[in-house]
Amino acid sequence: MAGVKLSHVYKEFDKGNFAVSDFSLETGEHEFVVLVGPSGCGKSTTLRMIAGLEDITAGEIYIDGKLVNDMEPKNRDIAMVFQNYALYPHMTVFDNIALSLQIRHVPKDIIRERVMAVAETLGISQYLNRKPRALSGGQRQRVALGRAIVRQPKIFLLDEPLSNLDAKLRNQMRTEIIKLFHALGTTFIYVTHDQVEAMTMATKIVVMSDGLVQQIGSPREIYHHPSNVFTAGFMGSPQMNFFERCPLERKDGQYTLTFLGTRFLLPQEKQQQLSQKNVQSGEVIVGVRPEDIRLATQEDDDKVSALLEVSEMLGNEVLLHMRKAQESFIIRVPEFEDARFSQVGVAETTLELAIALSKIHLFDAETRVNLI
Ligand code: ATP
Repeated sequence: MAGVKLSHVYKEFDKGNFAVSDFSLETGEHEFVVLVGPSGCGKSTTLRMIAGLEDITAGEIYIDGKLVNDMEPKNRDIAMVFQNYALYPHMTVFDNIALSLQIRHVPKDIIRERVMAVAETLGISQYLNRKPRALSGGQRQRVALGRAIVRQPKIFLLDEPLSNLDAKLRNQMRTEIIKLFHALGTTFIYVTHDQVEAMTMATKIVVMSDGLVQQIGSPREIYHHPSNVFTAGFMGSPQMNFFERCPLERKDGQYTLTFLGTRFLLPQEKQQQLSQKNVQSGEVIVGVRPEDIRLATQEDDDKVSALLEVSEMLGNEVLLHMRKAQESFIIRVPEFEDARFSQVGVAETTLELAIALSKIHLFDAETRVNLI
C-alpha cells in the first residue's frame, strides 16, 4: 500500500504558458482521489506527470515516499487506464491482460492463475479467447481495468475511463470501480470532468480550473463548504443559484442581507459566523442550492414570490425555473408537492417561496472567495 505526494508541481508546455501551477496534494494509502474540472484545466497533465509520461517543470512527486521525478514510468509501480482503453487489437483478451506479466518473465502458471482471477473479478472469463474488436465498449473497458489490476501496482491512475460508455453502463462500471477500489485496498487517482463521478466515487476531490487547484476536500466538504464561486458552481446539478452584488448590512451587531427583492435578517448561526470573521457591510454574492429553496407554507416568514417560467419533471422531483425581476434561478421540489408541476406548460404562475437561510453561502463580490 502506498500514497502519492505532489509538492508545488508545475508544468509549462510553452514559454510562460502553464498547464499546471503549484499543484500540491498528499494522499493516504487507501484513497480514491478524483481530479475534476472543466476541459483543459490540467487534470490529464497532472495524471501523466504522476505516471512519468510527462516531465515536470518544477516541484517534486513522491510515490510511496520515494522521489520519482527522474524515475522511468515502468519503475514507478503504477498502472494507468486510459479513456480509449489502449488495447492491442491483434491480441486476445487473455494476452492483453497477461502482457505486462509476460514482459516481466513471471512464470506461466502464475500468469494463468492471476489472469483467471482478474477475469473472474471483472466478469470477463468467457471472453478470454476473443480479440478486443469482438467486445462491447463496457467489456473492453473491463479488459483495460484487468490489464491494470493484474500487475498489482501500488497506484492506479485512471483517465476518464468511463467517458466512452453510454449512461447506463457508466453507472454500472462506476459501482464496479468503487467495489474494486475497496477490494484492492490501494490508492486510485481518477480524472474526470463529470462532477457526479467525482461526488460518488471519491474519498477526496481535487477541483481544478485553469491549471490551479481550487479546493481539496471530501465530497461533503466540497458540496457543503465550497471555498469559492467556481467550486460552488461546478459541483452540484443543477448548479447552485448565484445572486450577484447583494447588499449585506451590519448594523447594531446584526447582519441583514437583501436579495430577490427581500431584506432578510440572517439566522443566528450565520450572524455568528459573519461577526467572527468581522465581515463588514458591503456587496456579496449569495449562493443558494436549488434544494434550499422550497414552496412556502403559511407559517413561513420572509416569503419570496416569483414567477414560474418552466417546470421539468424528473420523476421523483421537479425542477422549477423561476424568475424574479432580472434574476433567474432554479428550485428543486419533490414531485408530489403539487400535481400541476408534473404537467407540461404550467408557465406564468406566481409561487410563494421560502429560502433556507441557514444553508445559504456568501462570497466576496470581488475575490469570489467564500465568506461563510
Ligand atoms: P480534458 O478534460 O479536455 O482532457 P484536461 O483538464 O485533462 O482536459 P490537459 O489535457 O491536462 O487538460 O491540458 C491542460 C492544458 O495544457 C490545455 O490547455 C492543453 O491545451 C495544454 N496541453 C496539453 N498537452 C499539451 C502539449 N503536449 N503541448 C502543449 N500544450 C498542451
